[in-house]
Amino acid sequence: AANAQSAPSEARERHAELAELLDDANWRYYVLDSPTVSDAEYDGWMREILALEERHPDLRTPDSPTQKVGAPVSTEFTPVDHLQRMESLDNAFDDDDLAAWQARAERLIEADPGPYLCELKIDGLAVALVYEKGRLVRGATRGDGNTGDDITPNIRTLGDVPHRLTGDDVPDLLEVRGEVFLPVEGFKKLNEQLMDAGKPPFANPRNSAAGSLRQKDPRVTAQRPLRMIVHGVGKWEGSGPLPGTQSAVYERLRDLGLPVSDRYKVVESLDEIRGFVAHYNDHRHEPEYEIDGVVVKIDRIPVQRQLGSTSRAPRWAIAFKYPPEEVTTKLLDIQVNV
Ligand code: NAD
Repeated sequence: AANAQSAPSEARERHAELAELLDDANWRYYVLDSPTVSDAEYDGWMREILALEERHPDLRTPDSPTQKVGAPVSTEFTPVDHLQRMESLDNAFDDDDLAAWQARAERLIEADPGPYLCELKIDGLAVALVYEKGRLVRGATRGDGNTGDDITPNIRTLGDVPHRLTGDDVPDLLEVRGEVFLPVEGFKKLNEQLMDAGKPPFANPRNSAAGSLRQKDPRVTAQRPLRMIVHGVGKWEGSGPLPGTQSAVYERLRDLGLPVSDRYKVVESLDEIRGFVAHYNDHRHEPEYEIDGVVVKIDRIPVQRQLGSTSRAPRWAIAFKYPPEEVTTKLLDIQVNV
């Protein structure tokens, strides 16, 4: 019997329904690379379940989709544990969400959390690379955040990914994270080729990148014009300490020969963050890859450490999501599901 504290059965039923919808969508999106609902619909369900859990905290169990990252790995690849847990990002959908994120950080550290690093949220898939004494030894998908798919032979086919780090100050051990993506042009060409061959096209660049990277035969991956941009460090050992800011880390990674974005910007205030978000909202198709928003990170690493993470995402970063566009379907003039 329900006690006075627990959620009414109506809320409980809706919660179970949403959890099932989200778990199923996660499986199709992360494991099968073939989603059947739009990101906007998925995000709507996620917001609804978060609101339910806000009102009825007893619904927030460890197996809730709100507490998890990605989906368990598939059986097609060898599972591999990350050196450091890979997380997701909390979302902001409007200016109030962004201001609330900044205010929470300020409250928690009792100081101005700025400066902030603004960068593009590339619509690809998260991958971790491990370098031992400067040599690439492993590439893995994010999976459920703790364990990913070992895709090392596939990762080695990417022209952007150095097999050896450069410079004379190479760390003994380095785990970097980044986004693997297919540029919009490459995506369009690939879909044309697939359709010419009578095969079903990919719904969007993100799924085409995921499908191309998670191939059993790396020769197939090698034929896809996949790119990578690195946006974080999991592990750093030897060769002095990690630089003190996210932006300095990026420049250090660039010096090591890793692909770093040249579209990030360090700003001082919430107003300047708004400016960056507005700029790319108006210039969404300027980058050669598809973006679904902007990621804002607190630049100072010690402040990042101080703020730490929730069960699935860091408190020191936020993804501002742009409203959905039906651009990929328009570009191709074909009917696809998403
Ligand atoms: P997310 O995509 O909202 O954000 C986290 C990810 O952003 C990171 O893992 C990282 O890979 C990526 N990222 C891109 N650029 C980055 C940058 N510059 N810095 C840091 N990270 C960057 O979270 P998620 O957990 O990967 O996926 C959830 C989202 O995926 C949902 O909001 C939804 O849009 C989509 N999704 C859709 C379906 C569906 O069925 N349509 C299913 C599952 C997920």
